[in-house]
Amino acid sequence: MIWKGNFVVEENVGAIMWPAECSACGGRVDVRDDLKLSGEFKNFGKVNVQVSGVPYCQGCFSKVKAAKRLDSVVIGLSLAVGIPLGIIVTITMMASSSVTFIWLPLIFVPVILICYALAWLAIKFPLRTIMKGRFVDYIDARLQHGKKSDGTEGVSVIIDIPNKDFATKFAQLNEALPEGPPK
Ligand SMILES: [Zn+2]
Repeated sequence: MIWKGNFVVEENVGAIMWPAECSACGGRVDVRDDLKLSGEFKNFGKVNVQVSGVPYCQGCFSKVKAAKRLDSVVIGLSLAVGIPLGIIVTITMMASSSVTFIWLPLIFVPVILICYALAWLAIKFPLRTIMKGRFVDYIDARLQHGKKSDGTEGVSVIIDIPNKDFATKFAQLNEALPEGPPK
């Protein structure tokens, strides 16, 4: 477990301990949320990991669900607009220059990122600002492929905890987390 803005869990994601309070407001724990992560990685194949038991109170959990829905709308919209737009941009560039279909990802990624930024600004930001009380920031996790702290290659779980207070307690609680068998 390393603290680098986010928590990086290299082994034993199942051994994570959560402080016994709502991770958003510090209130009492009514709901435990599971985060299912999966990804396809070179040399590792398909990796499935579950981060279990993220604690929330009932009130915050409804707001977490709303925030997650809003985030998937923003991502869905970015892709729904970004993919056709990427194709149009590529075809237009192919007609006027030596751009070929090999360039597709080079054009697609920035186009989708721009669409995401626009969707974020046009939808997420105003909704989150106007209806402040309806959403809450949630704990998120993702898989990351790269060099681990011991220098070996591996897939780590990154846990992002938006609530600073909760993050501090989480860090204290998991400080002594075993990093797996010695190598
Ligand atoms: Zn709460």
